[in-house]
Amino acid sequence: MSKTANAIRTMFRTTTLLMLFACVNGPSVAPARSETPLRPALKRSDVVFLYDNPSLYEAYGCTVLGWGQSVPTPGRLQLAHTKGVRLFAESVGFLTEFSRVIDFSPDFLDAACRNFAGQPFIVPWLWDFKHRGQPSWWWRTNSPLYRKYLESRLEEVVRAKADGLHIDDYSGTFTAVTWGKLSGCFCRHCMAGFRDYLAKNLSKDILAALGIRDLGTFDYRAYLLARGVKAEDYDRRRSQLPLAGEFYDFQVTANTEFVTRFHRRAEKLRGVPMSLAVNSNLGSPAALAIAPHLTYFCCEVETGAAARAVPMHPVYVYKLADGLSRPGASTTGGWDWAYVSDHKLPGLVRTWIALSYAFGHNFMVPHYQWCYTDKRGSFWYSGPTEEYAWLYRFVRQNARLLDGYEAVAPVAVVYDNAARRRQQADVEPICTALAERNVPFTIVVAGDDWLDYRLDAASLARRKAVIVAERLVMDKTQRELLAAIDRAGRLVRWPDDKRLEQLVPAPVRLEGVGDMLVVPRELPGNTKSSLVVHLLNRRYDGQKDAMTLQTNLMLRPRHDFVGGRKFARAMLHAPQTPSISLRITFDGQDPRIEVPRLDLWAILELNE
Ligand SMILES: [Zn+2]
Repeated sequence: MSKTANAIRTMFRTTTLLMLFACVNGPSVAPARSETPLRPALKRSDVVFLYDNPSLYEAYGCTVLGWGQSVPTPGRLQLAHTKGVRLFAESVGFLTEFSRVIDFSPDFLDAACRNFAGQPFIVPWLWDFKHRGQPSWWWRTNSPLYRKYLESRLEEVVRAKADGLHIDDYSGTFTAVTWGKLSGCFCRHCMAGFRDYLAKNLSKDILAALGIRDLGTFDYRAYLLARGVKAEDYDRRRSQLPLAGEFYDFQVTANTEFVTRFHRRAEKLRGVPMSLAVNSNLGSPAALAIAPHLTYFCCEVETGAAARAVPMHPVYVYKLADGLSRPGASTTGGWDWAYVSDHKLPGLVRTWIALSYAFGHNFMVPHYQWCYTDKRGSFWYSGPTEEYAWLYRFVRQNARLLDGYEAVAPVAVVYDNAARRRQQADVEPICTALAERNVPFTIVVAGDDWLDYRLDAASLARRKAVIVAERLVMDKTQRELLAAIDRAGRLVRWPDDKRLEQLVPAPVRLEGVGDMLVVPRELPGNTKSSLVVHLLNRRYDGQKDAMTLQTNLMLRPRHDFVGGRKFARAMLHAPQTPSISLRITFDGQDPRIEVPRLDLWAILELNE
């Protein structure tokens, strides 16, 4: 395992969760209203458990099981349904189930990846696990034996009548291509698959120019060895080597295809639609390629616990998930949970929970979470129920102000997948800046051959401003849509604060307060419904693990920002306090709303 900060950061953004529990079984998916049954979906107000624990359903108001149990048991899922769990997903781990793979076949090493030196290698963050004297080998999703094992797991999930399929470490083999010095995967199955890929994607002339005369006998590893590439410097040279881009493309697209087929197979066996979720942190173009095939994300999103501050990275991830029209149930990485466990910081965790729901996503209940450090390996954090359950009950009590609501977004930030594949046009700093300035926005996605999303003229036409980063790479059709926005005077090349301010003058002004996030949400297409404004306190005191109470705040949203609606009634809902009616006065047409206090999080409900 690489010890560099970046490697560690990457690791905990892409790492995994372990399955230790047991259980499941139950009725079919919730019936859809239309003729064609729909896949069970995640709702904004859902309370999601990672692992099953029926004794805690009621305390938290659990409605969804994200990972479920490692050994689905008939009956358990039915019990969950009778206790209010609507969607029970079962997880299959592409890397974590090493002990079961070892038990599955005596030839288990045939299911393991091979590095450039031809050796199998272990999953770096599972270094402390052993089974029958064997370490946690990194399995290859391109191996027929491994696929046989996964099929047996699928049958187990289906027998339990799970509502959904979750896949942990779904990226399987392709992550081993770029991860640290693993230098995967050069097994014979990947070599054969890559041969087929080249036959389909590269012309004979191009192959000839690369010195490949006979694809029938082509072996990429042998090809590189013949060009003087050595095992000890493969990783350093990888990105510059011939066919490196094609090899990675092959691994990513093969995996997307496999996961998609795996899900379809589950639905076929099950006979009803099943949701599909994977543990992708949305942290790179490769991690997004699966997005069009998902029902929702169920993943780890880094929160940087050691900084002891309300994190902003999740805001970017939530906005990107919005841009992909996929909600996300998330937890944080093992490193962050280890920090929380060691320092006892439930107050910090509550800021993560509030942040996710305010932005329309679901932070999973911390009753049982995976912790990891490179010195200690894996251990577990059992979050005390009394520290968290009341916050999730608040979510359930206010479901009507969460479900169906979407971000008010006069501003769109363009995410360019093709540019990100070249490490260009990162929009995370833009998203952080906008969120900190309380400029409501969304991300719109310009996709490419990996990501089947395209900019949409109608969506862009609705925005007062469209923000782009430098060095875009997207295709001509999508560029032309942006050129039209530019001609209409609504394109902002970041950073151009002056232009943005002209197009979208401070939508929400605050008086008497510094650090808070104001997050307006609306029911699309319903101009009579409540407008909801989430207020999140950013004044977290890391020494006391407590919020610093803010009092006597004045909120001044511009009337045109709220669609010209004139609000006459304001209710403030906050955890552990009775809801109160707030006074609204007007400064010209702009409302002024007095908020007497803000502790962790409040939901302001505005009505005409
Ligand atoms: Zn392989």
